[in-house]
Amino acid sequence: MGFGAIGRRPDPARVAGEEAVIPGTFAYHRPKTIKDAVALLADLGDDARPLAGGHSMIPIMKLRLAEPGHLVDLAAIGDLRGIRADGGDIIIGAMNSEHDVIASDLLAAKVPLLRETALQIADPQVRYVGTIGGNAANGDPGNDMPAVMMALGAIYHLTGKSGERKVPARDFYQGIYLTALKPGEILTAIRVAVPPAGHGYAYQKLKRKVGDYATAAAAVVLTMKGGKVESCAIGLTNVANRALFAAEAAKILVGSTLDEATVKRAVAAAEAITSPASDGHGPAAYRTKMAGVMLKRALARAKARAAA
Ligand SMILES: Cc1cc2nc3c(=O)[nH]c(=O)nc-3n(C[C@H](O)[C@H](O)[C@H](O)COP(=O)(O)OP(=O)(O)OC[C@H]3O[C@@H](n4cnc5c(N)ncnc54)[C@H](O)[C@@H]3O)c2cc1C
Repeated sequence: MGFGAIGRRPDPARVAGEEAVIPGTFAYHRPKTIKDAVALLADLGDDARPLAGGHSMIPIMKLRLAEPGHLVDLAAIGDLRGIRADGGDIIIGAMNSEHDVIASDLLAAKVPLLRETALQIADPQVRYVGTIGGNAANGDPGNDMPAVMMALGAIYHLTGKSGERKVPARDFYQGIYLTALKPGEILTAIRVAVPPAGHGYAYQKLKRKVGDYATAAAAVVLTMKGGKVESCAIGLTNVANRALFAAEAAKILVGSTLDEATVKRAVAAAEAITSPASDGHGPAAYRTKMAGVMLKRALARAKARAAA
């Protein structure tokens, strides 16, 4: 089978006739290069899935919501690691853990929103293993990075057997676990343009308890000039079947001093594009309101941090 595959074994849960509480059987592959990984994924077809930190994938497999026959582990691919400056941009390898993002001096200095967000994901144990690429590529609307990447205008580098293409984060998310990734493609890196010095930023997340997914959250990146908003971008987490880019709300704010009346109009515009589910996080109407509250707080925080 190549690349260190273990091969399929009998499924103990099924053999015993017990309720399945462990993943189905799968073959494990550990390629060392991006080229080998995409070749494997192309050869194995629909039955194969990339594996990064496994902190979303393995729970889904345990619930038997996914039963891939092959996992292609990206952990041994050195080219998927590292965080480096490239002109006015920063390139973050997909296999950096959420902890790597927190620990990066470069990101802390240039794109502090990413550190602020990563610190609000789960708990340290999850963050040491979960990756920024897995968080961005997963397609779960509850993941925190997608809305933040939208607010930052990040570009995703996707590689498949036929080559590389670049997709803006704002165009990447299509529905629950539905993204612009084509079969056999992997996210190799995320390119973030460094926001101007003196920009304001904030990620405000409401969660039921420490380590939980968002009931609702809002990401804001803005610049101010002469006391007025010069540019603004807003992303929303877990209030629809995908992360949302609140373009209309941001447009309302540009040119304003972030006065109460204008913020109220922008919050209403942001709330209008949400369509959360009523679930364990609360009723839909409550979650929509909380998205507005998180946005209002994120705007105030971003303004306080921005150079006027
Ligand atoms: C207890 C707990 C609490 C959590 N709380 C939060 C939270 O509050 N906020 C939050 O955002 N997340 C949370 N998570 C999820 C965590 O951040 C995951 O680590 C992350 O969502 C997925 O990253 P991963 O590296 O583990 O990816 P994996 O689980 O390995 O993969 C996830 C999916 O993405 C695909 N994938 C992974 N990497 C790539 C790639 N490079 N290219 C293409 N496809 C890829 C996989 O095939 C799979 O479909 C939590 C997880 C746990 C276990």
